[in-house]
Amino acid sequence: MRDAFLPFALPDIDESELAQIGEALASGWITTGPKTRQFEAEFAAIVGARHAIAVNSCTAAMHLALEAVGLQRGDEVITTPYTFAASAEVVRYFDARPVLVDVNAGSFNIDVDQIEAAITSRTKAIIPVHIAGQAADLDAIYAIAQRHKLAVIEDAAHAFPTTYRGRMIGAPPPLQLKHAACFSFYATKTIATGEGGMICTDDDEIADRCRIMALHGISKDAWKRYTAEGSWYYEIIAPGYKYNLTDVASAMGLAQLAKAERMWRRRTEIAHRYTQAFAGLVHFQTPCAQDQDQHAWHLYMLRLNLATLRIDRARFIEELKQRQIGVSVHFIPLHIHPYYRDTYGYQALDFPVAYGEFQREISLPIYSKMSDQDVQDVIDAVVTIAETYRC
Ligand SMILES: *Cc1c(COP(=O)(O)O)cnc(C)c1O
Repeated sequence: MRDAFLPFALPDIDESELAQIGEALASGWITTGPKTRQFEAEFAAIVGARHAIAVNSCTAAMHLALEAVGLQRGDEVITTPYTFAASAEVVRYFDARPVLVDVNAGSFNIDVDQIEAAITSRTKAIIPVHIAGQAADLDAIYAIAQRHKLAVIEDAAHAFPTTYRGRMIGAPPPLQLKHAACFSFYATKTIATGEGGMICTDDDEIADRCRIMALHGISKDAWKRYTAEGSWYYEIIAPGYKYNLTDVASAMGLAQLAKAERMWRRRTEIAHRYTQAFAGLVHFQTPCAQDQDQHAWHLYMLRLNLATLRIDRARFIEELKQRQIGVSVHFIPLHIHPYYRDTYGYQALDFPVAYGEFQREISLPIYSKMSDQDVQDVIDAVVTIAETYRC
């Protein structure tokens, strides 16, 4: 048994972050400035987007994107119950309604066959979540959005670097529609700046509006007002927000971007080792990754076949903890949380797939800092617990 606890997630930080952050600090420019512009330019180039706008979280990114496409009080936005708080709360910021559509049992992504039945005259947007780093079925989602004139705001918090049909998530859709993809650089995400986010879009209007609203609704390039080419004069054109990313965070983002591919390769290796170890055992269902697309492997979502075990998921996690393995659960479906349950009167079985899969899901540690021994320790613990408590 391990003698040190294996955390569920850890950022991959070395001297390159220290060097980048040191440059930012030494420059004297610590809030939004040249490092942020460089981070945006590099991120945009990697995903193939015309615009990338750095903000201080993915939540802020989705809030701004919904504002930019004109979401209003009383409107409806379609998303799934199988996601983090942020995907629906940003809709509530407008006093608009998140309309939940159940997920596919295979991928945990939105069940595209159920989207059209949820569309009403008030529907304004769809927020697909690329859960774990596997792309939702975007061709179907884009086609539905175009048919019903809806915006698509992708919750890409898990989806860097993910591809869909050869395009990076963040690249523009092949159809004409209002679109943005929102990424997260939260501490546990695939590239981390502590807190941070990015809005990617090819739509000039959405990009302009997001830039302005991310910094107090102040007319163009407000961040430049203290530079040599800047001006003291500015105009407030709307009551905006304070969502800009600092240069200290962006400096860390640049260092993380430089090793994003190496980190992704390591996570992919770990995912393959897990799947090799668990796929042949009746106690488990391993994630079904689509061969033609690149999975970001932000999460490794293992499912227990509870009928083959004498213990439930909570006890399984307790046993892992006793063996010094940190794990998590993604996600407690939105509709069973008190706020959504009480506000909209949801029953647990209103979304039977989300509710059922949630009962048996465990997210295993998957990050580039893990050693081969760490990976083996996770495998040994999971297999031992299943064998100990088999029916
Ligand atoms: C982490 C996460 C977010 C929020 O990201 P922040 O950068 O913390 O705001 C949104 N959606 C999903 C699915 C997430 O996991």
